[in-house]
Amino acid sequence: MKHAVGPVIAVVFIIAAVCGPSMPALSADFIQVPAVIHIHTTFSSGSYTIDELVEKAAAEGIGCLVLTDHDRVEMEYGLFPFRNIVKAWESRPSVLSAGAGKYLDAIFTVNARQKNVLVIPGVQSSPFYYWTGIPLPGKLTAHDFRKELLILGMDSPGDYRGLPIMNNGPSLRYTMELLPGFLAFAAAFAGFLLLSRYPGHAGRFGMVLAVFSFLLMIDNLPFKSSLYDAYHGDRGIAPFQEEIDYANQHGGLVFWAHPESNYSPKGRSFGPIRLETPPYTDALFDSDNYTGFSAIYGDEITFTTPGAGWDQLLAAFCRGERKRPPVGIAGADFHMEYGGEKLDTYQTVCLVHEKSARQILDSLARGRCYALFKKKGACMVLDRFGLADEKSGRTAVMGQILTAVGGSVISGRISASDNGRYPIRLRLVCDGRVVREISDETPVVFSTLFPKTTGQPLAFCRLDAESPALGRLLSNPVFVKLNGLGKSPSAALREP
Ligand SMILES: [Zn+2]
Repeated sequence: MKHAVGPVIAVVFIIAAVCGPSMPALSADFIQVPAVIHIHTTFSSGSYTIDELVEKAAAEGIGCLVLTDHDRVEMEYGLFPFRNIVKAWESRPSVLSAGAGKYLDAIFTVNARQKNVLVIPGVQSSPFYYWTGIPLPGKLTAHDFRKELLILGMDSPGDYRGLPIMNNGPSLRYTMELLPGFLAFAAAFAGFLLLSRYPGHAGRFGMVLAVFSFLLMIDNLPFKSSLYDAYHGDRGIAPFQEEIDYANQHGGLVFWAHPESNYSPKGRSFGPIRLETPPYTDALFDSDNYTGFSAIYGDEITFTTPGAGWDQLLAAFCRGERKRPPVGIAGADFHMEYGGEKLDTYQTVCLVHEKSARQILDSLARGRCYALFKKKGACMVLDRFGLADEKSGRTAVMGQILTAVGGSVISGRISASDNGRYPIRLRLVCDGRVVREISDETPVVFSTLFPKTTGQPLAFCRLDAESPALGRLLSNPVFVKLNGLGKSPSAALREP
């Protein structure tokens, strides 16, 4: 048994597999499963098959792989006025070009064959882009194609075929909205067809217009996969919110993929097309009801700085202005082992009762998980982190709400996976402010009273730790409802 510090937090985790030796459970609550999220396989742009990835994961002690091959990688440019008939396109292998059923079957097969590494399906999705420039090689720019969402856990092929993205084949989803336009061209076609039966010039004129309106009718069939097209400029958050809503309706989780990646420098191209996607942290404010975002990945990230974007969104949730608090995960964007980056470099460690897809997805949805960047050797392990009410003895872990009667005590322990001693700097961030900073050697234990920061009835506290040798650890927030006042928090967070 590891040290219990301050008021004993009843909920203590069993430490699993990758990052450290097994620990006996202090209560029967949670085991930690290290998961790697945002992985590409040979179904899209990755270098390894699912079987090869499972083998690597087993060797590195990873318990779960969340695959996010590209759903469809296709861009097309059509000539006005027959944009859907006269067009050129550029495409790459993807889940939907291979077949969503084939992708899900491959995942099902590998899960049936072994129980060591759980594989969960998902996709990286680009719902929208828009054109500027002229359709000549090097002169045409596609904007926002890399403004992407990770959609996790949908398990039926139809869910993927129906994704509201551009160029995703025929769909009945928007037929009612698109029908008036189609019927207008159909009516024009019928009228000109009648006119074409007249003799002389009127008839010939009618025939030309009938052909023209017929082509427009075909070009505007009411079976498009998206309400948006690439020829009308930036459409704001709408196409993205549409896909977020779709994922929620189909039982998927949805995370913004890499909000601070800059895909605008020279040389970013897709065949003859220039790509331009500046960082898009604004989208995290403009959209709502998404599950979370990649908070650690292979870029310089400022959004998680204390008081910056993430804390502002969490504060908005605490004020009742947002439906859910965004969950931070680590995004691996793993394609192959490259330049020292391995499969286990970016991990999201999930707290679950048992290792199942349902439980892993539940922990990600609720934010009962923490994000890790691991350097070459050992990594940090969050042995425990949570809040305890001094009076009632009730406790809460990440993603949960503690209803405080008395004072709330934040406590926790971070160690190194090899039990070694390494310098780390740990910051406790409550309501966007650093309330305590500790520089020490692992293992670090801490315990402190939750400070009254904002006067809001709902408050949050999260942990941010860095180590030159071990990497980075970012917890999701624990919430505390002070004195039971104010608006009721989101039901999404309530524990059963
Ligand atoms: Zn990716």
